[in-house]
Amino acid sequence: MSFTPIQPRFGQTLVAGILLATSMLAYTPAALAQDSPVDKINAEAERSDIKATPLRAGLVMLEGSGGNIGVLVTPGEKFMVDAGIAVSKDKLSRALTALGPATVRYVVDTHWHWDHTDGNAWLHEAGAQVIAHPRTAAYLARTERVDDWRHSFDALPASGLPTTLVSKQKRYLVGGEKVDIEAIPPAHTDGDLFVRFRNADVLFVGDTYWNGMYPFIDNEHGGSIDGMIRAANLSLKMAGDNTIIVPGHGPIATRADLEMYRTMLQTTRDNVAKLKGEGMNLEAIIAAKPTATYDAKWGNSLIDPAFFTRLVYNGL
Ligand SMILES: [Zn+2]
Repeated sequence: MSFTPIQPRFGQTLVAGILLATSMLAYTPAALAQDSPVDKINAEAERSDIKATPLRAGLVMLEGSGGNIGVLVTPGEKFMVDAGIAVSKDKLSRALTALGPATVRYVVDTHWHWDHTDGNAWLHEAGAQVIAHPRTAAYLARTERVDDWRHSFDALPASGLPTTLVSKQKRYLVGGEKVDIEAIPPAHTDGDLFVRFRNADVLFVGDTYWNGMYPFIDNEHGGSIDGMIRAANLSLKMAGDNTIIVPGHGPIATRADLEMYRTMLQTTRDNVAKLKGEGMNLEAIIAAKPTATYDAKWGNSLIDPAFFTRLVYNGL
């Protein structure tokens, strides 16, 4: 199977699927009982088909099961970045088979959130080794509450727990490709990993980057706005002009896209910090609309301007 290289595109719009799902759910009786964004994302995954987008040199992005998933396809094995949501098992399984007959030998969890790790167990049972940061492994082994999502996540079954831990850096050779897994300082959570495909020049940055949407920041698990800005700066250092950057959510990006994101994070952080420093409370800061200049481009998804302002405020 051959892949046509494609270039990242500029100015892409929001993840229409999430918007559509949100607006559709608003009119169903079930939505009345559904209070957590987690339920919306799961329902969306249940409905979605898996879309495969070839990136470069045997690397493919799969969308439709929570966060973006990467797959390096070689004749002997497949290497995955993130495991998606377990409700997508059958569809993901078919999408993986369509990419080639080799089994998935490795799956890296970029962080502990269920939309990136919920598929660990079935992938492990199908032969994959699960790789993660030690903090991610710890969170997955017990019940974890995220108040910002109004949701408690059960521990994964033993078969879904990571068995290979990366606290600094680890390199894999997969069909001639050098795959570097790199732990970064706390950003979206305190267990974030980047995955760099060195020959292909593709960089997966997990949920430290949501392209075209305000990002979620897991302040309750070591994340913060300052960490997110640090991670964006680190990504910019790693990326060249030709690098394909794969965010945790949203379309693939160029270095220039990522720069705009970094500026948005930095400006919002400074605006919120200034108002907080003047003694304003959270409610007043949200009313002052510190994200106003960015809302048209970034504020139309799950994390709306008020929610994002709160996440920034709580992390300062
Ligand atoms: Zn996440």
